[in-house]
Amino acid sequence: MSIAENLKNVKQELPENVRLVAISKTKPDEAILEAYEAGQKVFGENRVQELTQKHEELPKDIKWHMVGHLQSNKVKYIAPFVNLIHGIDKAKLIKEINKQAKKHNRVIDVLLQFHIAEEETKFGFNYEEAEEMMKNPKFKEYENVRICGVMGMATFTDDEKQIRKEFKQLAQFFHQLKSNYFKDSESFKEISMGMTNDYKIAIEEGATLVRIGSLIFGKRNNH
Ligand SMILES: *Cc1c(COP(=O)(O)O)cnc(C)c1O
Repeated sequence: MSIAENLKNVKQELPENVRLVAISKTKPDEAILEAYEAGQKVFGENRVQELTQKHEELPKDIKWHMVGHLQSNKVKYIAPFVNLIHGIDKAKLIKEINKQAKKHNRVIDVLLQFHIAEEETKFGFNYEEAEEMMKNPKFKEYENVRICGVMGMATFTDDEKQIRKEFKQLAQFFHQLKSNYFKDSESFKEISMGMTNDYKIAIEEGATLVRIGSLIFGKRNNH
């Protein structure tokens, strides 16, 4: 099936309140353009260099999401244009994003990444760490960063119960943060969870953003 057809099939599965981030990492510009011409405007990448290069080459109304692990020293490359950064896993990173966003006179939207999987290799806060950050008064000074919600990746497994448990956990973190720190923030509304293999479970558990790559663009050879 073509990319346009895959995209259409995926979109038909999504409830109205769930937005699709098409994960285009490792895929060429032509593949992205095919999805773009079929109406998809939100794309996600996990490497800064690839993201900046694609941003330069492709139509300027694409909304680019950074979904991978982000190092502080690379924030400056994406700060001029990035639409949403999913993987905030350190307070230090927010400080740097704030600094770079200010230079470009922007407010950059971000999500707090939580470690919900069993694998230790996946990045993210635990709830106590996130709470500690929120309680720090310094935090309120970061006027050029807007925290819009949470993001997480489930364990890579066929065990649906395990995946569901982890997504439930992430949704619970979202609601706790919302009621404790973001009650009055209309922007704090996103739960980014679910990929090709588990997005249906994620939607059932409250995802508002799903990040889907291979189901749209086909299998990848590496990362
Ligand atoms: C690659 C990637 C995805 C998409 O994975 P698929 O299984 O191809 O849908 C989603 N989120 C993140 C953070 C990724 O790195």
